[in-house]
This record gives sequence, C-alpha cells and structure tokens, in this order.
Amino acid sequence: MSGLDLQGLRKTFGSMEALAGVDLRVPSGSRTAIVGPSGCGKTTLLRLIAGFEQPDAGRLALDGRVLFGEGAPVPSHHRNIGVVMQDGALFPHLSVADNIGFGLSRRDPSRAGTVAGLMDLVGLPGAMRDKRPDQLSGGQQQRVALARALAREPSLMLLDEPFSALDTGLRAATREAVAALLAAKAITTVLVTHDQAEALSFADQVAVMHDGRFRQIGAPRDLYLRPKDAMVAAFLGDAILLPATVAQGKVDCALGCFAADLSTDPGPCQLMLRPEQLHVSTIAEAPAAASTGEVVGISFGGASCTIQVRLASAPDLPPLRLSVPSRAEHQIGEAVAVAVDGPVHILPIS
Ligand code: ATP
Repeated sequence: MSGLDLQGLRKTFGSMEALAGVDLRVPSGSRTAIVGPSGCGKTTLLRLIAGFEQPDAGRLALDGRVLFGEGAPVPSHHRNIGVVMQDGALFPHLSVADNIGFGLSRRDPSRAGTVAGLMDLVGLPGAMRDKRPDQLSGGQQQRVALARALAREPSLMLLDEPFSALDTGLRAATREAVAALLAAKAITTVLVTHDQAEALSFADQVAVMHDGRFRQIGAPRDLYLRPKDAMVAAFLGDAILLPATVAQGKVDCALGCFAADLSTDPGPCQLMLRPEQLHVSTIAEAPAAASTGEVVGISFGGASCTIQVRLASAPDLPPLRLSVPSRAEHQIGEAVAVAVDGPVHILPIS
C-alpha cells in the first residue's frame, strides 16, 4: 500500500500513556493534519514516525515498506522522511543556502537554482543566503528549516507547527505556497497544528486527537459540519450546542423544530450549529421561522462583532454567541430575530 500506514501504535513514558493505540492511513501524495489539545500525543506520534523514538507496540509502514513492527526498525536516516519540528534545528555553522542545500549534491548544477527557488517560496530574501542561523529571527529560521526539508523531496514530510513563528500575513501565504508545492510534488504530508483554520485549509484529511487516540478522522468539510461529538465540534471551530429532543424524524430545540436524519435515535440529544448558520435580523425583517431574543452582550472584533443573544423561548440557557458584520450596529437590550440556515447536525449528549 502506498502512503503512510499506522496500525495500533502505542507509546508510554513511565506510567504516562502518550499514545494508546493509534491507527491512521495517509494516502500517497495527500496531506493529513493532526489537531488536538496540548499534551494529547501529537508530537510523540510524529517522533515515532520519524524514527526519533520507537513505539512500544504497533506497526508503521511507508509506501509498503515496514519501518517498525516487522524485523529491526529502520533507522531514522534511512526513512527518507523530511521533518520540520517546532524548533527548526538548523546546522548553526552553515549558511542559509548551505542549510537548505544540505541534502543536495554539491556537484548538481541545479543546486543553486533549487536553493534560490525554495528561499523564494518560503519568503526569504535572496540577500540572506550567506547569513548564519544565529543572525536570523525565529520565524526566518523556521522558514529555512522548511526549505531544507522540502529540498530533499522526501517520501513523507512531517511538519510540527512549522508556521507558528511566522507573522499572520506571511503565515497564510507561506502555508498556501507550501501546501501547493507539496500537492504539486505529490509529497505525502502529516502536519501537526494547534490552529484549526490551518488544519482545515491545509489538509485533505483532518485527524482530531484526544488522550493519545484519534477521536475522528475525515475530510475537513465532513468533520467541520458533521463532527461525531461535542469535543470534535469545539476543536474545529466555534460551535453552538443546544439541548434538543428527537422524535418522529424531527428535532426540537429552543430555536425551533427541524428535520432530523431518519436514522437518528429518538430521545434527548444536542443540536450543533456553526455561528455562520445563524442569521440575526430586526424583528420586522425576520423570516417566519425565526426565534426572538434580546441582545445582552456585544464585543467588537474588527471585521465582525460577536453579540450575545438571550432567547425568549429559553431564558435559562446561556446566551447564544453570534457573529454579525461590524456595520450592523446592535445595542444592548435590543430585540432581535435569529433564523437558522441549512441542515442542522445532531450530537449525542456529552
Ligand atoms: P503540545 O501540543 O503541547 O506540543 P502534544 O500533543 O504534542 O502537545 P506530546 O508532546 O506528544 O503532546 O506529549 C504527550 C504526553 O507525553 C504529554 O503528557 C507529555 O508530557 C508526555 N511526554 C512526551 N515526551 C515525553 C518524554 N520524553 N518523557 C516523558 N513524557 C513525555
């Protein structure tokens, strides 16, 4: 099987179970992002794949070659895996250009061009080619590490928060450029990130990890719109959760009654909505099915505002936190209508 294949990977440190049996398939040439709370085992998993540490149990194969689990483990330097960890780890005595070109033959006539192209890709000015790592900022060092790993065109690229030290503007541009390059060269990639938007935009597949296990793995859109539980829902973006009840193909909650998937079990549940599914309007402009409420909090956030709305139908529920355009100047105490757009998603009670 080509791509990365992990089966039942376990790792403990003393009595701490960092990985409790991890299964993951990353098809060849695709990109998977791993997200999860701090300490859930993300970096440990990357270190096992890279061969920096060995699992206690399980099997690890890359493009059909068993790296761990049958016979002696393949040492990390024979795995053809590019790694960019949080700290970059550059060669301190080498220039930027020599760090990036480290894995390339000095006799290769295209070496200088490859190095220049990669510097351009990650946003490093050509004038920096002769600087040493200690003359660069943290963000610049991280970009050199990224370029160095890309230069060797590895069978698998492991990226642990590679964009975290970059400024917001450069971060999005670098991420898009790196994702495009990895896709163009069909390099199988695993990215670890804390940033849910980064995971959703960078990867073909997102894996949400919790307590050393994957909670859910799937395409970004599926995970965002149809998470299997409240933890996955909250990890991938703002989620509005409302107590609800399913009966006879309908789900009933404080925002109204909606069609439920016929396969949903009847009984109490939670209804999950993403903020962009809720539209706020004046009472006069409200569609027929809208609920009414009162604005009880406003927080200005630049492009959009978050307003808190207490629903008239459920005054005991915590106010809904809704995103509205900044130009819609709401007032505390104002009566508003809230309408739901699109299919609703039902979660088990957590
Ligand atoms: P973060 O997002 O904060 O980087 P993470 O999800 O990458 O966290 P890991 O670094 O993989 O988490 O750590 C998982 C657990 O294993 C943590 O409880 C951590 O303290 C523990 N751990 C990791 N490496 C070691 C080690 N070498 N010795 C002992 N415990 C370790």
